[in-house]
Amino acid sequence: MSNVLIIGAGIAGLSAGIYARKSRFDVMMCEAHSIAGGNCTSWRRKGYLFEGGLHWLTGSGMEQPLHKVWREVGALRDESRITNGDPFMVCDWHGQRVSLYRDNVKLETHLCEVSPEDMPRIRELCRDIRRFSSFAMPVTDIPRLKVSEKSPSIIPSGLKMLPALARILPLSALSVTDYAARFRHPAIRLLLMSVVNPNYDAVALLVTLGCFASGDGGYLEGGSLTLTANMVKRFEELGGIIRYNTKVTKVQIVNGRACGVVAGGETIRADAVIITSDTLTAIDTFFDVPLREKWMRTMCMNMNRNGVLLMCSFVSIGVETDLSDLPESMTFPLEKPIEHAGQRITHLAYKLYADSAGYAPKGCSAITLIITGNTYDYWKQARDQGCYDEHKKELFEQICTALEKQLPAIKGKVAVWDVATPLTYERYCGTWHGSWMTITPPGTKRVFYPCRLKHIGNLYFAGQRIMPPGGTPPAVSTGRTAVQYLCRDFGAVFQS
Ligand SMILES: Cc1cc2nc3c(=O)[nH]c(=O)nc-3n(C[C@H](O)[C@H](O)[C@H](O)COP(=O)(O)OP(=O)(O)OC[C@H]3O[C@@H](n4cnc5c(N)ncnc54)[C@H](O)[C@@H]3O)c2cc1C
Repeated sequence: MSNVLIIGAGIAGLSAGIYARKSRFDVMMCEAHSIAGGNCTSWRRKGYLFEGGLHWLTGSGMEQPLHKVWREVGALRDESRITNGDPFMVCDWHGQRVSLYRDNVKLETHLCEVSPEDMPRIRELCRDIRRFSSFAMPVTDIPRLKVSEKSPSIIPSGLKMLPALARILPLSALSVTDYAARFRHPAIRLLLMSVVNPNYDAVALLVTLGCFASGDGGYLEGGSLTLTANMVKRFEELGGIIRYNTKVTKVQIVNGRACGVVAGGETIRADAVIITSDTLTAIDTFFDVPLREKWMRTMCMNMNRNGVLLMCSFVSIGVETDLSDLPESMTFPLEKPIEHAGQRITHLAYKLYADSAGYAPKGCSAITLIITGNTYDYWKQARDQGCYDEHKKELFEQICTALEKQLPAIKGKVAVWDVATPLTYERYCGTWHGSWMTITPPGTKRVFYPCRLKHIGNLYFAGQRIMPPGGTPPAVSTGRTAVQYLCRDFGAVFQS
């Protein structure tokens, strides 16, 4: 039996590990951290649980082709509970509440009532959402692969997607900000800008809204910890091994083939290596001789462009008050913008987790906020100058002051707070500058990178960076594709 070494036990690594074990390879996974999951994680502080890496799951809907993949890797099971909170998000515009409903008819009626003068644009938005609700991430097999069960043809789902495909060109020329700016009502503008990062092209926004409208994009009870734990369980049940606290520093290449890795000074031999840690970091650090692949040069060039790396400062706050009567997801404008790391923050969006779901002690609530923006250099400088913790406190205080105005009940009730910066993500997940997804700005082509190399044998890549914009669906899907290449190269039958 050939043995495969997988670098990283995030969603891509676990996916690759599970499919490789099913396809009868011996599998060992090296994970730098003491836990699995990578970016798909949550953390506990003083009885609060802060959901850090999963807000909605594409493929949670049973109709989606990706659902089958989540089931195959054991992430979703018969007993999994998915909630599709509706409204998905609410905007509080100086006391007026405007909701982003998943239900398309309800959304259209509601928004037209809120802003009759925006009616033509609202109708167009809802028409686009309906078109994009047939949009699905295809699940395919690579050519010339022996498979235990062929993936269904993508032609029927491709045909259903035709109406959405016709909208891709005009929408991809607009940023989310441009798209939102066409609406006169400020609350509708703010709602649309709070779903995905406003620098994405408008396709990303419509794909997301279409996903919600189709009954997909739900929240798995237990969130990222459950998703990860279910996959670890499946991998270990299949006989896979994870070595934690084992950071790979080099991939060994001999005679044009990958034959193992170096981790903690130890050489671990393998017949094949699958790299699922961030591809950008891997390209930079794992190889003694730089790899000559064209797609890697393209990736590095694309990712070097300003603003495409999605990163954040993640603020989590535990409050000793029950906020369960408020919407779970809220966006609101700030009376006074927050100046932070050269950025001007004009609005905030928070997620609320009440005690009933096990996220906070009884009668208390957990609040999380994602402040996106490329602040890597700012935090790095703060760390180098010894004022990292001070800057974290400063950001927390600014956010907390703004939140107290919005949620007076939390005043004096903060029991715990925490700020994770891009440096935190870099340290714990090894991602390039702490970035956990890739922004697809307007006017740029979506490039999907191959999972294998032309010039080096037995070496494969998977992970969010391979399929921008990333997230857990590309992670699980590229893990599967990498193993399909592995199977084809080793003459094995791919088992799903
Ligand atoms: C705040 C936030 C919110 C998010 N919300 C969502 C959401 O709602 N829906 C969604 O789908 N996605 C969401 N994401 C994105 C999603 O979590 C990630 O894109 C996805 O988990 C990436 O998985 P991955 O396996 O490709 O990479 P990673 O998660 O980066 O996993 C890589 C693994 O490799 C390990 N590693 C790195 N270097 C080494 C080394 N040298 N040796 C050994 N191991 C190494 C890391 O420790 C890590 O475990 C969110 C992410 C964040 C941070």
